[in-house]
Amino acid sequence: VPELPEVETVRRGLERSVIGRRVQSVHVTGRRTIRRQTPAEFGAALTGRQLLVAGRRGKYLLIGLEDGATLVVHLRMSGQLLHVPGAAEPVADHTHVRIALDDGSELRFVDPRTFGELFVAAEHDSAGRPVALAALGTDPLLDRLGPGRLGRLLANRRTSLKAFLLDQHALAGIGNLYADEILFRARLLPDRRAASLTPAEVRRLALAVRQVLAEAVELRGSSLRDARYRDLQGDLGAFQSRHAVYGRAGQPCIRCGTPIERAKLAGRSAHFCGACQR
Ligand SMILES: [Zn+2]
Repeated sequence: VPELPEVETVRRGLERSVIGRRVQSVHVTGRRTIRRQTPAEFGAALTGRQLLVAGRRGKYLLIGLEDGATLVVHLRMSGQLLHVPGAAEPVADHTHVRIALDDGSELRFVDPRTFGELFVAAEHDSAGRPVALAALGTDPLLDRLGPGRLGRLLANRRTSLKAFLLDQHALAGIGNLYADEILFRARLLPDRRAASLTPAEVRRLALAVRQVLAEAVELRGSSLRDARYRDLQGDLGAFQSRHAVYGRAGQPCIRCGTPIERAKLAGRSAHFCGACQR
């Protein structure tokens, strides 16, 4: 499931290869993928527009259009945004949207499970963000999450740390995989009550959030065994080789050798070392 590092990798790809191009035509075949507007409205909002800037907020890709609107893309469970050099490239199964650009290349949205979506947002708040995404929380990298801000977000929270990290209204961009890796780095147990952290622990957590996400961006995200996550050019990420706990249940902890545990928490699986996380 793509999280902040994977989405940021796709964003960098967009910046390199499609920014400056103009949309020539839009072809929608997946009705579930375009669900906030009709495919005709979606196509009309994009056709003829230049793609000016590639942004990101949490797990959302935000492509700024020349008329001030924003093309919003959310990959959800299994979505892939791919850039292919020409319309003649074979079309992958589960391709739901094709956006033809003025250099002959195409952006394609492929999504077997169809939870992902695209829409064009016309309304923005004073900070220039789509109103539709107003409920999104702090983006740890864009907003340079520090201990002060994190401490305020954690205060009075009755949930576990794991549930807190997954809450997109608190912090935007972290999912199951990076939540586990961040808590291992911070040496905090996933079921710790969020409001119970000492100031030193809040500092450790703030640092772990930024470090783990930045390192994962550096290695172009994580591709798991299903190879579902691919970047804009269809290449795999490499951060999976650095995973300390995620997907390592029963294997020795890289810090102390104790077998990594796996437990159900907040409806998800949590991976952790019971010896060096407290
Ligand atoms: Zn350990």
